[in-house]
Amino acid sequence: MTQATYLWTPPATPSLPVRGQSARLPVNRIFCVGRNYHAHAVEMGKPVDKSAERPFYFTKSAQALVPSGATVAYPPQTKNYHFEMELVLVVGKPGFEVKAEDAHELIYGYACGLDMTRRDLQLAARDKGRPWDLGKDFEQSAVCGEVVPMPGVVIEQGAIALAVNGQAKQQSDVNKLIWNIREIVADLSLFYHLQPGDLIYTGTPEGVGAVVPGDRITGHVEGVGEVALTVGSAR
Ligand code: MN
Repeated sequence: MTQATYLWTPPATPSLPVRGQSARLPVNRIFCVGRNYHAHAVEMGKPVDKSAERPFYFTKSAQALVPSGATVAYPPQTKNYHFEMELVLVVGKPGFEVKAEDAHELIYGYACGLDMTRRDLQLAARDKGRPWDLGKDFEQSAVCGEVVPMPGVVIEQGAIALAVNGQAKQQSDVNKLIWNIREIVADLSLFYHLQPGDLIYTGTPEGVGAVVPGDRITGHVEGVGEVALTVGSAR
């Protein structure tokens, strides 16, 4: 087989460390669930009626991935840079039109993530019916900790929390997800052929807020692990 040659060196494959393994997990796509905790939906001014609505999604580029522990520059064109603490599901097997009762078969493991958001740009787009990309899919906006292998495990509960400079900001439980892990896998797989290395950010609880240069964000999900981020100066 002839090896492809490129005009310049291709970007490195986005990847994450895996607990207990030297091999890294190659990241394929990054899906994010919107408004998946009632109290957060309310604080965004958009309460969810599960009986009448379906989940919705946005995506981030895999190139937006940044490892836990990093210092990131305060991003451009925002005055309202927000944290969102999330449980991240890591897909390990392909699946399409997966039944909820079979959803566990796709699960490789979990990680703790931060869906960093330019809230002012997201809300301006939302309120004009425009795409959310500028608010959500920007450089270094998908923070993710190490992947914890938990093949076939469906997380149904566990504390999820985030602090800024040691001060608690978000405190909830994964059992408050509006659409749970099985339901998310089943629904998202109606729209996409899920693939190994796809990440699903499952949504954030209430208490989201702004950070400024110098702030240190720390978060954890019980039974999974931790994530951290330091906000640096704009550049
Ligand atoms: Mn989010």
